[in-house]
Amino acid sequence: MTHPPASSDAVLVVGAGISGAACARALAGAEVPVRLVDRGRRPGGRMASRRLDGRVVDLGASYLTAPEGSPFAAVVDGWVARGLARPWTDTFAVAGPDGLRDRRTGPVRYAAPGGLRALVEDLVEGLRPEAGLTVAAVVPADDAGHAVTVDGAPVRAAVLAMPDPQARRLLPEGSAAHAALHGADTWRPAIAVVLRFGERSWPADLHGAFVHDSDVLGWVADDGDRRGDGAPVLVAHTVPAFAAAHLEDPDAVVAPVVAAVRAALGLVAEPVAAVAHRWTFSAPGEQHDGTSGLVDGVGVCGDAWGERSSVGTAWASGDALGRRLAGV
Ligand SMILES: Cc1cc2nc3c(=O)[nH]c(=O)nc-3n(C[C@H](O)[C@H](O)[C@H](O)COP(=O)(O)OP(=O)(O)OC[C@H]3O[C@@H](n4cnc5c(N)ncnc54)[C@H](O)[C@@H]3O)c2cc1C
Repeated sequence: MTHPPASSDAVLVVGAGISGAACARALAGAEVPVRLVDRGRRPGGRMASRRLDGRVVDLGASYLTAPEGSPFAAVVDGWVARGLARPWTDTFAVAGPDGLRDRRTGPVRYAAPGGLRALVEDLVEGLRPEAGLTVAAVVPADDAGHAVTVDGAPVRAAVLAMPDPQARRLLPEGSAAHAALHGADTWRPAIAVVLRFGERSWPADLHGAFVHDSDVLGWVADDGDRRGDGAPVLVAHTVPAFAAAHLEDPDAVVAPVVAAVRAALGLVAEPVAAVAHRWTFSAPGEQHDGTSGLVDGVGVCGDAWGERSSVGTAWASGDALGRRLAGV
């Protein structure tokens, strides 16, 4: 970090994605001093929205779901009431490599008119998150009574709210906290490709398409439809193996992804612009037991802590860890 924590009484939450934001918010709500830091320029993590050609587009998570009656559903209802989130659809297309096949209905998916990052920014409002701070080393508390340290400075507790492989490399090998992050090697990559067309030429009720049996594509979202502005923009996500083969040169996937999207959706038009974004750690390959980890003053939370990886799981994990640390 560029400067040490202001107070060793504070819990230092590292990572301002939705799990770190929920954790920091739960701590602040229980009046526990908390600092929230992130190496990125803005909060959001994998709920990433970027401005391209003057328009916001979602590059990471496509949507969120909220189990009815859950605490997260109450948070989502609040966002909907304030116009930050909107119910998008409960039905997506199913495609194969050679065309659209079917439709599938499931739970209501929510999207954000201002991009999903806006939801994390809303959660951290008032918490004064500190951007551009990269944590390099976290040393857990020990039996000799030494406090947890973050880059050499003592803290009340440290929370690592990030993908397990990123958290694990901050911890000493052989520590119990390092060992708790077993499964870190199973995390899968993805590459997202934003495709901007001259006009919309896919079915108006497509919303999004799960793509089966493709070596390239796993999913395509209609970004104009989910964000509500009708822009002719699709966001395609590759399958993990294809991403893994191109992590060093994500731009190389653009041509095969364009071809795969056109074939899967039956499009004649070519996009007028395409941009690739790499996610080295997109989703865990296995889930931990429990809602969060806490050992020797080091807490870990995120989407690997819960039944299945999702935005809602990450929120619930961070919220649970914050309450656990606050003793409420
Ligand atoms: C391509 C893609 C598609 C997805 N689709 C969906 C979907 O449709 N629906 C759904 O529910 N979920 C989806 N997800 C998953 C969802 O985005 C995640 O589950 C959720 O956003 C995880 O939040 P998090 O806070 O646990 O981690 P993250 O959002 O990854 O946040 C971790 C934060 O830690 C910071 N950080 C890391 N290391 C350091 C360090 N050393 N120092 C300081 N800061 C650090 C990072 O900058 C980052 O901001 C998708 C994810 C991806 C990548």
